[in-house]
Amino acid sequence: MAYSYDEIRKFWETNITYLKGVGPTKAVYLQKYLNITSFEDLIFLFPKRYKDKSRLTPPEELIFAVNKEVLLRGTLKNFKQVPARKKKFWEADFVMERKIRVKLRWFKMFQFVSENIQKNLNKEVLIYGKPTYYGKQLSINHPEIYSCNSQEDLLKIKRLHPVYTTREDLIKRGLSSKKIQELIGNLLKKAEGYFYEIIPSEILETYFLKTREEAFRLIHFPSTLQDAEKGLERFKFEEIFLLQILLQQRRRFFRRQFKAPACPVVGELFHKFYENYLPFELTNAQKRVVKEIRKDMRREEPMSRLVQGDVGSGKTMVAFLSCLIALDNGLQCAIMAPTEVLANQHYAKLLKSFVPMGISVRLLTGSMTKAQKKAVKSGLKLGTIQVVVGTHALIQEDVEFKNLGLVVVDEQHKFGVLQRASLGKKGKNFHPHMLYLTATPIPRTMAIAFYGDLDVSTIDEMPPGRKPVKTRVITESRRLELYGWLRKKIREGNQVYIVFPLVEESEKLDLQSAVEGYQRLQEYFREFKVGLVHGKMRPAEKDKVMQDFKEGKLHILVSTTVIEVGVDVPKANIMIIENAERFGLSQLHQLRGRVGRGGEQAYTFLMTGKKMQGDAKVRLETMERTTDGFEIARIDLELRGPGDFLGTKQSGLPEFRWADFVRDEQIFSKAKVSAKHLIEADPELKSQPFLRKFLWDYIKKYNLEHLVP
Ligand code: ADP
Ligand code: MG
Repeated sequence: MAYSYDEIRKFWETNITYLKGVGPTKAVYLQKYLNITSFEDLIFLFPKRYKDKSRLTPPEELIFAVNKEVLLRGTLKNFKQVPARKKKFWEADFVMERKIRVKLRWFKMFQFVSENIQKNLNKEVLIYGKPTYYGKQLSINHPEIYSCNSQEDLLKIKRLHPVYTTREDLIKRGLSSKKIQELIGNLLKKAEGYFYEIIPSEILETYFLKTREEAFRLIHFPSTLQDAEKGLERFKFEEIFLLQILLQQRRRFFRRQFKAPACPVVGELFHKFYENYLPFELTNAQKRVVKEIRKDMRREEPMSRLVQGDVGSGKTMVAFLSCLIALDNGLQCAIMAPTEVLANQHYAKLLKSFVPMGISVRLLTGSMTKAQKKAVKSGLKLGTIQVVVGTHALIQEDVEFKNLGLVVVDEQHKFGVLQRASLGKKGKNFHPHMLYLTATPIPRTMAIAFYGDLDVSTIDEMPPGRKPVKTRVITESRRLELYGWLRKKIREGNQVYIVFPLVEESEKLDLQSAVEGYQRLQEYFREFKVGLVHGKMRPAEKDKVMQDFKEGKLHILVSTTVIEVGVDVPKANIMIIENAERFGLSQLHQLRGRVGRGGEQAYTFLMTGKKMQGDAKVRLETMERTTDGFEIARIDLELRGPGDFLGTKQSGLPEFRWADFVRDEQIFSKAKVSAKHLIEADPELKSQPFLRKFLWDYIKKYNLEHLVP
């Protein structure tokens, strides 16, 4: 008789004291040090690594095994304490076949270790440890020593040994890795019949995945490292798959539940704009993405499309053309930007092209007066305003639209998942089409994890004539040389950004450094106009400075990182980033994206006072080496880990326990595809009762209620 889901859950939630070999004291330590209270907690305690003792290393191979852990056979001899000047230690000789020897050393001696050595002295033993050179002599510190009197002994030793914990306090309390493995062995026996499968068997078969039960066994009792990996792969797949199921269900729900206004017409405005106002020929990538959007918007299912393209790839124009499709179908559009500067920039562009075509465009930002906002809101409600550009103010509760057809979210990565949802709800009885733009090229794995419910278009081509920005790391000693060159370049008509870091912990100090830098530069470049913009300025002041810079009234713009996103000044071809070692890699890339937007050769100088080291060195060298946003994103992800990279915490999604964004790309794609197919075929998971129930536990466990429509 198979157990029901509830019986099975109850089994796994059983308190750990009910397991053979645990007892009340061990239970306390398991809880205290490893946070394990239930059977399930224990079985999900996966080894940190494995010691591979499956193979004996012959003594003549020893020199190839320096600094690697090996299993050796030989005889223990001459165990003695060595009186040393600083601190005494212990050593012994280990003599192998053909009289090949290594020294064994102990710098700390425990009673049980010394007993074990005494017992095995002058006998054949196996040792496991890492040979290293100590002077000219090969030696192993703190080896593990096993007596091997029988074939049976040998078999027990010669395999993979999981390492669960290296905490001394646990080991002293009888919870060594070996003991933990034994407990898990007891559990695996006891759990017979209580293993359940939540991944449909066809999927397991298609991707050669292990069942849950097999996978647990392979992870805790592997014969080879490949086995262990196979086991782990299943759980990586499982965790990605579960989240994908949720995202796919959510996607399906939105598409079914809400109707978006279909936009079948590509009409007058679109064509008029295309013929009279399009300032350049679209790149093929832009054309392709616009086509994808048109196809989405034709339908009654709300579009949810993410357009990703490197800084400067021309996402704005794609967004504008999409707005025209909505407008041609009598609908309103909203464009949301993360900063006022950026909202203003979009607005200014629309004033030049949309307004002359008779389209009514308005701005809605937090810094506007109440009366101004009220006027805009009432226009949106009445439908007299057709396009609104704004900041967060747009997603405030009391903004209503008459017939909102399209929402564009620029620099999507600056907004969280929750905000993403709430803006969509602005259309009352229906859901508007949603277009998200992002310049943070997201590695495929992260796109799947974080935007699994979106369709993704990629602008993978830069507008023609762009020359890659030349990037150099410059140290303090060459500053004056650089300034001399700047002077020449500015006289030739170039404009320059000089960026100072702004790091939250020391906002004040940084501001000070920008202000001081500004004063110094004003002194130095007396013949030029120098401006300053930073986050503490009022939006109107900020805009004034940005505007002056755009119009060429300023030659040099000193700023903190407020210019990071989106701002577009074609004549500004040179950027100097001060204290560049303090910036993240993606941030440096975003900043650099501000220059090189015209056809001229652009330059970025990364100033650094210090000798570069560690991650900072990798970051700056990567910047010098490449301008490929995807490559940069990949390296940044490796350096920082996923949590920092996109802000997993604020994204409202769980972190993965096992899956790795850098290494497990294959697993991510497989999990996404299979979840998608499953939800298409069986949206409510009627054929998968265990999975359906399990999903609810999963949602509760990770607080994912917000993802459930
Ligand atoms: P981003 O993708 O970073 O938002 P923008 O949309 O701001 O980039 O475009 C960057 C610059 O490239 C702008 O000055 C824009 O006018 C210009 N641009 C966009 N598309 C093209 C194109 N097809 N040909 C030439 N210039 C273009
Ligand atoms: Mg942009």
